Amino acid sequence: MNKEIISSDKLNEDKEIEESLRPKLLESFVGQEKLKENLKISIESAKIRKDVLDHILFFGPPGLGKTTLSYIIANELGVKIYSTSGPILERPGDLAGILTKLERGDVLFIDEIHRVNRVVEEYLYPAMEDFVLDIMLDTGPSARSIKIKIKPFTLIGATTRSGLLTSPLRSRFGMSHRLDFYTDEDLKNILKRSSKILGIDSSDEGLIEIAKRSRGTPRVANRLLKRVRDFAIVKGKGVVDRKTVIDAMKMLDVDQLGLDELSVSILKTIIEKYNGGPVGISTLAISVGETAETLEEVYEPFLIMKGLIKRTQRGRVATKLAFEHLGYKYEGGLFDL
Ligand code: ADP
Repeated sequence: MNKEIISSDKLNEDKEIEESLRPKLLESFVGQEKLKENLKISIESAKIRKDVLDHILFFGPPGLGKTTLSYIIANELGVKIYSTSGPILERPGDLAGILTKLERGDVLFIDEIHRVNRVVEEYLYPAMEDFVLDIMLDTGPSARSIKIKIKPFTLIGATTRSGLLTSPLRSRFGMSHRLDFYTDEDLKNILKRSSKILGIDSSDEGLIEIAKRSRGTPRVANRLLKRVRDFAIVKGKGVVDRKTVIDAMKMLDVDQLGLDELSVSILKTIIEKYNGGPVGISTLAISVGETAETLEEVYEPFLIMKGLIKRTQRGRVATKLAFEHLGYKYEGGLFDL
């Protein structure tokens, strides 16, 4: 993660501010226009039909607004939302505990749904499809099951790894939406809104410089904004303008593309240790001291989108652009990139 996040106090503050920055209405959610339009229609239709909204799956890299959208949906529907996550739902009883609390139309949000274990997943199927829970009583020859009816609800699942979802689970979602990285212009608008909420004096030119270094991700943009604000207060006149942003970014070691330390380390490892690649993801993960899963979920999507690395059958390869961005001489590789 970004190295500017240092203490747990800062982390708590980040969490609190993140909450305060979450838009509550679809119209204040910036960008992702097509997705918003689709959701608007589904929400309106459910309201007119006085029916319960279909189950929804959101997928895409972290920090793009999956949780935010889920809360917005519940808010727009005027229902309660209960939030949990895949690893927390260890036993079927955990799931039953939440499901039996739900009122008709409520939303159950499960973050990291790809990490729900198989046993719990089996219980989700009838709950999603028929709104019943099949509870097994006893084991062995005296085993019997009872069916408990639950009130119709909407499950919203969020995942960074849609590929890890089993197909029976995936097929039970009526809608499945992918969230994409944001454009610099969208990020600038998100930052403008955040500045207003946080009472930060900022210029458009300053905000666009933050946007460019935010890796297409609102969560990163908001975090950088707060760090730049601190810098502006201590070192400048408290205004987030272009010069302040550029100076602050230098001090925070955030480069022109917003690559953080680990992303830079990934690229340097491929280039220096493996001659530009190809190198397998597991080997690469060990070299940079991260799990292969984190590399694939968190770091790689952006590096691939920016054309800095490529996935090949034999592993990851650094592109000419990556060599140049980090100041290495590119002498042509195994692949014509
Ligand atoms: P995810 O669940 O995909 O990891 P979150 O919903 O937690 O991401 O979003 C992270 C932060 O970014 C939140 O504080 C939220 O306010 C902000 N954010 C995300 N998307 C948007 C958006 N489209 N408009 C405004 N703020 C956003």
